[in-house]
Amino acid sequence: MSSQSNPKILFSRQEIEATVRKLAAEIRKDYQGKSPLLVGILKGSFMFMADLIRLLDFPLEVDFIRLSSYGRGRESSGKVKVVQDLSSQVRGREVLVIEDIVDTGITISFLLDYLRKKKPASLRLCALTDKPSRRRVPVTIDYLGFTVSDKFLVGYGLDWDEKFRNLPDICVLEE
Ligand code: 5GP
Ligand code: MG
Repeated sequence: MSSQSNPKILFSRQEIEATVRKLAAEIRKDYQGKSPLLVGILKGSFMFMADLIRLLDFPLEVDFIRLSSYGRGRESSGKVKVVQDLSSQVRGREVLVIEDIVDTGITISFLLDYLRKKKPASLRLCALTDKPSRRRVPVTIDYLGFTVSDKFLVGYGLDWDEKFRNLPDICVLEE
């Protein structure tokens, strides 16, 4: 794979919009009358977070956490660290984590354990995409957008070597 690769659309901006609407409707139903803390995982979830919260009509707060990434490759090292922590209190809050992709599950299960130790009132996960065939750690996804096979995705916030985040569609890189 090189940065010269040609991105091919897998999910168009219209399909993404419809899916984000569906997720927002499910979340609105469950969080009515609550004021949750939405935790986005940087950097990949920023665009999804921005679109999703504009469709939510209850009071909410937004925070971000940055976890150690894969570096330039695509395989998880299996070791996850907090690189930039939340600035909000988690104890007693209704926490909804917003993730771009659940792949092996290592990153998200680390984060859910990390947050659970801070004693939130509730803790749920919303993921835009899931690659169940790559799972190594079991993960419950409460709100899921797309299920994908083992392909490397870019666009709509997702990068390859920090590039392609600005593409409005979710794409697969082709040689
Ligand atoms: P896991 O720990 O579940 O293996 O990895 C999850 C993280 O790896 C995601 O949050 C995402 O940042 C990154 N990742 C996994 N698959 C892809 C992919 O297809 N494209 C991109 N850009 N990142 C991915
Ligand atoms: Mg990520």
